[in-house]
Amino acid sequence: MHATDAAWLKRFPELEILIDSDTLQARVRELGEQITRDYGAHPPLLVGVLKGSLVFLADLMRAIPLPVSYDFVAISSYGAETQTTGQVRLIKDLDSPIHGRHVLVVEDIYDTGLTLSYLLGLLRQREPASLRVCTLLAKPARRQVALEIAYCGFEIPDRFVVGYGLDYGERYRNLPFIAVLQGQP
Ligand code: 5GP
Repeated sequence: MHATDAAWLKRFPELEILIDSDTLQARVRELGEQITRDYGAHPPLLVGVLKGSLVFLADLMRAIPLPVSYDFVAISSYGAETQTTGQVRLIKDLDSPIHGRHVLVVEDIYDTGLTLSYLLGLLRQREPASLRVCTLLAKPARRQVALEIAYCGFEIPDRFVVGYGLDYGERYRNLPFIAVLQGQP
């Protein structure tokens, strides 16, 4: 295990690592290379979904040596709970219009798909030149809405995960790896 990950675990003994930081960083670099090849002369606008995608977006964009820009939306999610309510609401909209632009939505996790399908519907109405999704994680077991995902970092089992942007009651977002809370289903 990476020495830094081991040091974190000493301070957070309730965690069990699911994807360590080296594996995470290597995959983010691969995704960046793939996106760079695919978009080439048409650099995308990266749209991060707050707050969970912040860390992923920050690393991903530095693995894309193209003149990309980024913007954020915020959508209501679980709050301090670990179960989805099915209620989705836009809390913060984009700063600029996306008409005619190549938009790549960057999401932390594709779980039921309710959040992404709501967001994609909203963005599609604004007629971007293209609209794709890059998600770090996907939990196929809990899928409710099937969506086309152009880029996916890892498929994970049906466990509640934290770290690398993902929280439990606003904690754990700063972990450099993806972990499960021991004792959580
Ligand atoms: P969906 O709408 O696909 O069910 O859920 C998407 C959102 O729910 C994610 O952006 C994330 O904020 C939250 N979420 C889903 N699964 C998890 C998880 O395992 N851990 C954490 N921390 N958040 C999750």
